[in-house]
Amino acid sequence: MSNGADEIRLIVEQVLRSADIAALLGADGRQAGTDAQKAAPAPLGGGVFATVDSAVQAAAAAQRELSALPLETRRRMIGAMRQAVLSNNEALCVDAVSETGLGNVRDKQVKNALAATKTPGVEDVEPAAYSDEHGLTLTERAPYGVIGAITPVTNPMATITSNSVGMIAAGNSVVFDVHPNAKRISNRLITLLNDAIKSAGGPQNLLCAVAEPTIESAGDLMKHKGVALLVVTGGPGVVRAAMGSGKKAICAGPGNPPCVVDGTADLVKAGRDIVAGASFDNNVVCICEKEVLAAEGIADRLKQEMRANGAYELTGSQIDAVTTLTVPSFKGPHAENAPNKDMVGKDAARIAEAAGFEVPPETRLLLMEVGREHPLVWTEQLMPVLPLVRVKSVDEAIDLAFEVEHGFRHSAMMHSHDIEKLSKMARIMNCSLFVKNGPCYAGLGQGGAGYTSFTIASPTGEGITRARTFTRERRCTLVDYFRII
Ligand code: NAD
Repeated sequence: MSNGADEIRLIVEQVLRSADIAALLGADGRQAGTDAQKAAPAPLGGGVFATVDSAVQAAAAAQRELSALPLETRRRMIGAMRQAVLSNNEALCVDAVSETGLGNVRDKQVKNALAATKTPGVEDVEPAAYSDEHGLTLTERAPYGVIGAITPVTNPMATITSNSVGMIAAGNSVVFDVHPNAKRISNRLITLLNDAIKSAGGPQNLLCAVAEPTIESAGDLMKHKGVALLVVTGGPGVVRAAMGSGKKAICAGPGNPPCVVDGTADLVKAGRDIVAGASFDNNVVCICEKEVLAAEGIADRLKQEMRANGAYELTGSQIDAVTTLTVPSFKGPHAENAPNKDMVGKDAARIAEAAGFEVPPETRLLLMEVGREHPLVWTEQLMPVLPLVRVKSVDEAIDLAFEVEHGFRHSAMMHSHDIEKLSKMARIMNCSLFVKNGPCYAGLGQGGAGYTSFTIASPTGEGITRARTFTRERRCTLVDYFRII
């Protein structure tokens, strides 16, 4: 039977056949941009503006033009945007890895392809009608106008693609303030999408961006009176800032997804799925498995299956060295802890090397069995280092999963065939995304049913965002007439 990991492997194989990525990137696939490249000012034009104010003004004019265009044109624009990402996917991903130094080209291509093909479009904002003896009521979904979108360094392209498709499908324009460490690739993608929109008969500057984004420019965007809605995707700081801005804000914040495995699980599949999910784009995706909580009866078998699928299990001093390296200033389980930014999104082998030992270069994940108070259990590490805690029972695992998720209500996973425990964990976690018996990305529609988004709004409750999330609901009632039966 096909699953998400198989699908991803197939895509990866196609991708690897299509170009010699290693030659483009250098031996370790992680060549960072040169200092000169990073310092070069971003080019203006193609939707990229020098100031927040000029970007908002251009976006407002473009949104008025969009409102006057037929829906058919909007559908064509969305189709052209999807195609533009797919046609340029490989080159975009090579440049993204080069600029940000995070993740890997193959998985970024999977993320982009997913965002381009499975983000809902215009069909998601269909009107609804109600009729009865009192007449007819129509509900339509109106755009907000100009949306201010703030995007992360971890998924710069998939977030921008998914946001752009959904927000434009809903009739909005967007001003992006992208992560400064991904500004070149992000703004290049925005220009590419604008070109696609124009080629399909759409207005220019429907997607705008700030050439030199900073925390200050993000703050200016949050305060700008021409911005009707904020959509922020990032860590706790940007979420707090957006929620305190006084504007309506849709906030996609941090997570720390636990993965529970009990004695009824298919351990062969669980081991394979956990390694595939936790190593996906080197774990920079917010939904990736961040810690495994395994019932003691199956913990050894599970680790064996994980090792068979590319996990390298650390021992004694290796665990100590990797812990000190990856979470250098742990403030305690319930505090807001941050990982070592220099290690975020790096390859497993590179992290091991930095910690002073070698692992086989093909290692996908560093696995470490630790106690429940261990720093990596409580920290959103965003790197392919996965702690596993052995617990007495599945109930203890579920209770611990709730604690380590910090109440983010973001994402969680469980491998089990006990429907009572699956239901119990789903209810207790009450997350935006809960994956049963699959890798994390199945919950985003990669090898799982349903649409995708890379803005998962847990703090503000919208969950997996979609075009209709970016609309206001409008009701129009005609009394006594127009019912036809
Ligand atoms: P980050 O918070 O450092 O940056 C995200 C964006 O917010 C950037 O554009 C940054 O410039 C801006 N920003 C940061 N602090 C700000 C502030 N105080 N005021 C205004 N703007 C500010 O996050 P990152 O490192 O780019 O991304 C990783 C984090 O994002 C992780 O915590 C991850 O879980 C989260 N994330 C969540 C989702 C989701 O859908 N829920 C998706 C991707 C990433």
